[in-house]
Amino acid sequence: MMVPVLCRECGHSLEQENRFCPVCGAPREPVERQTYEGMEAFEQGEYDKALALFKAAAKKQALSAFALRDVAHAAFHLQDDALALDYYERALQVYKNLLDAHFNLGLIHLRRGHVNDAMFAFLETLELIHPLASGSYYLGLFHTAETLTLQCRLNLGMLFKEQGELEKALEQYKWVLEENPKNILALGNLGDALMTLERYEEAIKTYKKALKLLPESEERLNLQNDLGVSYFKKGEIENAIQEFKAVLKRDPDHVNAIYNLGQVYYHEGLTGRMKKDYEEFVKSSKDAASILFSLSKSMISVATDAERSRSQDDPSLIGNSPEMKKIHDLIKRAAASDATVLILGENGTGKELVARAIHQQSNRYDKPFVPIACSALSESLLESELFGHEKGSFTGALGQKLGKFEAADHGTVFLDEIGEISLSTQVKLLRVLQEREFERVGGTEPVQVDIRVIAATNRDLKQAIKAERFREDLYYRLNVIVIETPPLRKREGDLPLLIRYFIERQRAKRSTRFEGVSPEALRVMENYAWPGNVRELENVVERILTLNDDTQIRPEHLPEEMLGKRAGEPSEGRVSLGFLPGTSVLESVEREMIARVLKESDFNKKQAAVRLGISRPTLYQKIKKYGIEIP
Ligand SMILES: [Zn+2]
Repeated sequence: MMVPVLCRECGHSLEQENRFCPVCGAPREPVERQTYEGMEAFEQGEYDKALALFKAAAKKQALSAFALRDVAHAAFHLQDDALALDYYERALQVYKNLLDAHFNLGLIHLRRGHVNDAMFAFLETLELIHPLASGSYYLGLFHTAETLTLQCRLNLGMLFKEQGELEKALEQYKWVLEENPKNILALGNLGDALMTLERYEEAIKTYKKALKLLPESEERLNLQNDLGVSYFKKGEIENAIQEFKAVLKRDPDHVNAIYNLGQVYYHEGLTGRMKKDYEEFVKSSKDAASILFSLSKSMISVATDAERSRSQDDPSLIGNSPEMKKIHDLIKRAAASDATVLILGENGTGKELVARAIHQQSNRYDKPFVPIACSALSESLLESELFGHEKGSFTGALGQKLGKFEAADHGTVFLDEIGEISLSTQVKLLRVLQEREFERVGGTEPVQVDIRVIAATNRDLKQAIKAERFREDLYYRLNVIVIETPPLRKREGDLPLLIRYFIERQRAKRSTRFEGVSPEALRVMENYAWPGNVRELENVVERILTLNDDTQIRPEHLPEEMLGKRAGEPSEGRVSLGFLPGTSVLESVEREMIARVLKESDFNKKQAAVRLGISRPTLYQKIKKYGIEIP
């Protein structure tokens, strides 16, 4: 009996006389024994074995697109992307209508973040799509023509969205939903795209449809959270709050819902609602206190984020004090030269701003300013991040990646937190500083760059040299012009100026009755050390204006660490959310929550810290700060 011969592209059974498949048009080819054995191993998930067998078959059939493709499939499943890419492309050179090769190339490019190549591959797959006999090798194992089309559309939607082509993304999702109205992934993504397009009404409808289809699950909570965000954006605050709370009742640790609810309360000035919330959460969850504690943390982080996003008009350099006049003078002088600058100063004193000011006043002002956060770079990321990589490493399809030093050519590189980098990284950096030359990863040609280098740190580098954590030669390379940004406590007379500036800026954004600061409060603030400097001051002023209603900042609005006294004893028994005088709303919430959780955990601090989502040392600090009594 004859074994039926199947088309190696679509799995259709071929008649004796077929030289080409009548379904997909692929050529008929003899099949090697190793190919059959390889397929069997592949279907068992033994990809190593399959790879060896396919390679042997491909050696015998060097011009068979299918044999080359098989090798690529095995490599793909072994996650050897470089090998898979190579073989897929060789296979496509022989026969260009290999559906599965195009599709998998798309997945590889997707994995590597090559958006254009991935889009091209998925569009090509859609173009070529043909019926797949179920169970036929490879694609037939995973897909039907319908599910494959669906996958391509979903991936394309995601890629278009990433490119900012939202209308095109929408088209893909709508296409999927026409065929599969209950496809949750498409509904979720459609909602997402609609939100980005600010079409909130439609987004809300889409999310609601998805929620109806989904059973109770983590995914459902995520969608419900997204629904809350759509309501918020549309201005339906109460609906938004309701959705976020519903999520939190199911999952008290839902990070996004906590963050979002905190954001809504913060922006709407609804912090007073938390007392009512507590009563509500107590009914649904034994973790009510933890939820509210997380909420108050979230509000603080919203305040901090808001401050970070304003870094464009960072006020750190505002001031008339002699210290600030000196800084402005130094910036001018540094800008006139091309020498390396080292900026030293505490956190929040505006080191990056000084660097930007130097760049903007220099001849390089119209060239790039490239900040690099050194502490964020791991050893392994560093090389390709800083130096880039050559396209030769893989295949012609892959582009060259520019490193940050090259991106900054003719401009300024700002190496922030230089004190945090490892010794081996210091060696590599030293070479660039000395020679203004390096090689890309995978390249042999040296690349020359013309860059101005500015570095900054809050560390004592001389101390680090003594401790052998920082190279002396690198230090002297950096230490050509030194600028020390003064801490706020040393900037005599700048405090009222800065407070006025922050109040004015808040007034421009929201209605507030605040106009200034009382002499008593100013005295307290002048006596405070400001460890977080201008950034901390900004945060304090913003919080006071958000959480209070008054015309002047008064001592009772100030955070208690500034007043140098502790809050009163925790109330006995029931936790009341009444606010203590002399503390901000958030802090009194925090204090009450900690007391509550401690009590509920029978004063087991380890357990309480876990429930509060903070480290044990932080918990000890807070217990001390708030004077919470432990029996
Ligand atoms: Zn076929």
